[in-house]
Amino acid sequence: MTATKRVYLFGNGKAEGKADMKNLLGGKGANLAEMNLIGVPVPPGFTITTDVCTEYNTIGEAKLRELLMDEVKNAVAYVENLMGMQFGSNENPLLVSVRSGARASMPGMMDTILNLGMNDDAVQGIIKKTGNERFAWDSYRRFVQMYGDVVLGLKPQSKEEEDPFEVIIHNMKHDKGVKNDVDLSADDLRQLVQLFKKAVKDNTGHDFPNDPWDQLWGAIFAVFDSWNNDRAILYRQLNGIPHEWGTAVNVQAMVFGNMGETSATGVCFSRDAATGENIFNGEYLINAQGEDVVAGIRTPQEITLEGSHRWAKLAGVSEEERAAKYPSLEESMPKAYQELFDTQRKLELHSKDMQDMEFTIQEGKLWMLQTRNGKRTGFAMVKIAMDMLKEGLIDEKTALLRMEPGKLDELLHPVFTKAALADAHILAKGLPASPGAATGQIVFFAEDAEDWAKKGHKVVLVRTETSPEDLRGMNVAQGILTARGGMTSHAAVVARGMGKCCVSGAGSIVIDYKARTLSVAGKVLKEGDWISLNGSTGQVLEGKVDTQDPELSGDFAKVMELADKHTRMKVRTNADTPKDASVARNFGAQGIGLCRTEHMFFEGDRIKAMREMILADDEKGRRKALNKLLPMQRSDFEGIFTAMDGFPVTVRLLDPPLHEFVPHEEAQQADIARELGIDLSKVIERVNSLHEFNPMLGHRGCRLGNTYPEITEMQARAIIEAAINVQNKGVKVFPEIMVPLIGTLAEFELQEKIIRETADKVFAETGTKVQYLVGTMIEIPRAALTADKIAASAEFFSFGTNDLTQMTFGYSRDDAGVFLPVYLQKNLLKNDPFQILDQEGVGQLVEMGTSRGRSTRPDLKVGICGEHGGEPSSVEFCHRVGMNYVSCSPYRVPIARLAAAIAAIR
Ligand code: PEP
Ligand code: MG
Repeated sequence: MTATKRVYLFGNGKAEGKADMKNLLGGKGANLAEMNLIGVPVPPGFTITTDVCTEYNTIGEAKLRELLMDEVKNAVAYVENLMGMQFGSNENPLLVSVRSGARASMPGMMDTILNLGMNDDAVQGIIKKTGNERFAWDSYRRFVQMYGDVVLGLKPQSKEEEDPFEVIIHNMKHDKGVKNDVDLSADDLRQLVQLFKKAVKDNTGHDFPNDPWDQLWGAIFAVFDSWNNDRAILYRQLNGIPHEWGTAVNVQAMVFGNMGETSATGVCFSRDAATGENIFNGEYLINAQGEDVVAGIRTPQEITLEGSHRWAKLAGVSEEERAAKYPSLEESMPKAYQELFDTQRKLELHSKDMQDMEFTIQEGKLWMLQTRNGKRTGFAMVKIAMDMLKEGLIDEKTALLRMEPGKLDELLHPVFTKAALADAHILAKGLPASPGAATGQIVFFAEDAEDWAKKGHKVVLVRTETSPEDLRGMNVAQGILTARGGMTSHAAVVARGMGKCCVSGAGSIVIDYKARTLSVAGKVLKEGDWISLNGSTGQVLEGKVDTQDPELSGDFAKVMELADKHTRMKVRTNADTPKDASVARNFGAQGIGLCRTEHMFFEGDRIKAMREMILADDEKGRRKALNKLLPMQRSDFEGIFTAMDGFPVTVRLLDPPLHEFVPHEEAQQADIARELGIDLSKVIERVNSLHEFNPMLGHRGCRLGNTYPEITEMQARAIIEAAINVQNKGVKVFPEIMVPLIGTLAEFELQEKIIRETADKVFAETGTKVQYLVGTMIEIPRAALTADKIAASAEFFSFGTNDLTQMTFGYSRDDAGVFLPVYLQKNLLKNDPFQILDQEGVGQLVEMGTSRGRSTRPDLKVGICGEHGGEPSSVEFCHRVGMNYVSCSPYRVPIARLAAAIAAIR
């Protein structure tokens, strides 16, 4: 048996890993290896695999440390060798960074420790070597602070607690009468180290670990532990990342961006992650470490001169001030800039995707610390893929596979109308960090955003800067506004990943968290006031601003064209009105897969006739009321058939429980009694008799039509008459009449008989015919199990996976909201099965129903019309099962088209 390899080395142009080992090495580790292999300068280091994280969770720290010991010792020796430095040396000390890195990037969610290996000897070694006392002590105090926070658990757990280290720094600055960290002297920093260590002892009862090996083991396990911190778990839930994956740990020789004016650190993108434009861009800080850039604490400077000019214009900074105070890297370090520019180009060409990179310049020399495929907005996703296709970097299939269908949603959302923008009062300008339009009420805390959103408010989360703790609040907000931070700040990166509108670094805004106000341009806005954000221009607007539907041309249209070229399944829509039908048609829907006729009964006078029908004592009474409904239904169908000219329309017979249509308040019951000229007591009696304990499993679906055949008769007549009427006007019409909620063949056959007899009658009366189909929904497990029998009569199947999920899980659709959130939180369920089809369980019934149905009727047309029909992973499943089409709500049609194409390519 070969021993399990747990540690992979890289450095000096060699590596044990490579790019396609992301599952084992995490994204960061695999790419660090790959960068070595293609000659990009990367500080040497090693990666402990993601499997070890899983192992750690089962066997615990002590055992695992034993298993890892030899490999980690070798790996450190390897790095020492390459760097010509030693761990803990007072001559030439090696410092390392210890960073997380999962298969899928989870920006900022897990932990990082920098400057590890620093101790009282090492600091002397660094002073000797660099002659830079301030730098040495600054690195030391940063290390104690970070290690104390992350590994020793001193980081505050709530907003009320203060970080003990920040308090110490604050007091020190106050005593010395200085404003910024950079104004503290080497001696001040030396004192800070002592004070920090004392705080550690006071808080934990233990001395701060001086031995670099103790430090290293502590850090490795802290990074593994951070896989299971709350925000990482939440991020995985939001992004569908499995909890089993685990994170790798990357240990890498430190290089320093804080060694003075010829050192810098930054983050850059090979294309614009917000708009997708092919423009190299990014931000950096001179004399800083990486944490300073992402934390959004200092205002970072642009990397390119072009970007710098653009930034200055947005921020209202004059050219003199810009050049003097905020020069671009292109100006301040032209040589390093050129090298960085060439490297990013090389990395993009190598990976054939937009790269998000971290770098450090140490005394003029460039080092790359990370590269990964950059997170991007839906807009950027589409533009980058289409541009790369044009540039010949990728082919059509790859371009489609690059897309996350769900992200198209952003392109389908409203934008501010030109007129509203012209009238709007601009409060401030920030950076266009993530495009889109957002309007909502101001809240200042992530928890409030959650509370308010739960109560149905639209909120905009306003913060000085955001941190990973704010994730939940950001997720429910319409948009995010920050006063500080650049395009690579936490808020900007996370918002883009979420496809959420974000304006960052609106520097003129002053936030008072205590008073819950923001002041800008002489105005004070309170919590709850309305504000609007234009994430495409960075404008912050006062009040609510009107929006309009977006334009779906250009690259978007090209993506859809490509999708249709490579797809097999058709996409239809669920629509009950001509308006919805034409919206969906504009989005490319090829027919209606579900027209829920009960939705047509709620409006205006119809509800009256409907109630009259329900309250009637006998068939005669019901027929009288149904006769009033017939013309209304007929004209609805005419409208829908016309809107879908040339495409099939599946009309489902009446489905909901009857009691939904009758009032339960006595005052309204009295109104009805008066309108219908009957006794109130009779209305009450009838309403009570309609009461069901479990209406979703009660008198609905075909059970209605089978107990009251006259309802089916009326609906069939309305459909066929409407079809004939529009056909006479030249519309191409293909009605498909669908029977809901059947469990047995006999239930279907009785409905079919009524429908066909009615149609024949109408044909005889009018002397005209139309082609039509009669099929059924498969939404009761028994129907799926006996699909071979049902298909003998039914001409098509449409899986109603909402009900099928309800009945397979035994979760009442109306009541699951109480326990599902808890189930998700406790990981009893991976997803809400009403949103994402449970392929393992419910999926079996879908597969079985399809194959059994086709065993009787090989050309059986099969589709899905439950909510899952617009959810990308479920669409992919439907493709695999061999469905002919999926049907979803109008706004999800483009998403489903893309998902269907991707499924076909895969
Ligand atoms: C279904 O059950 O999946 C379905 C589409 O029907 P409804 O949601 O109307 O019950
Ligand atoms: Mg249903």
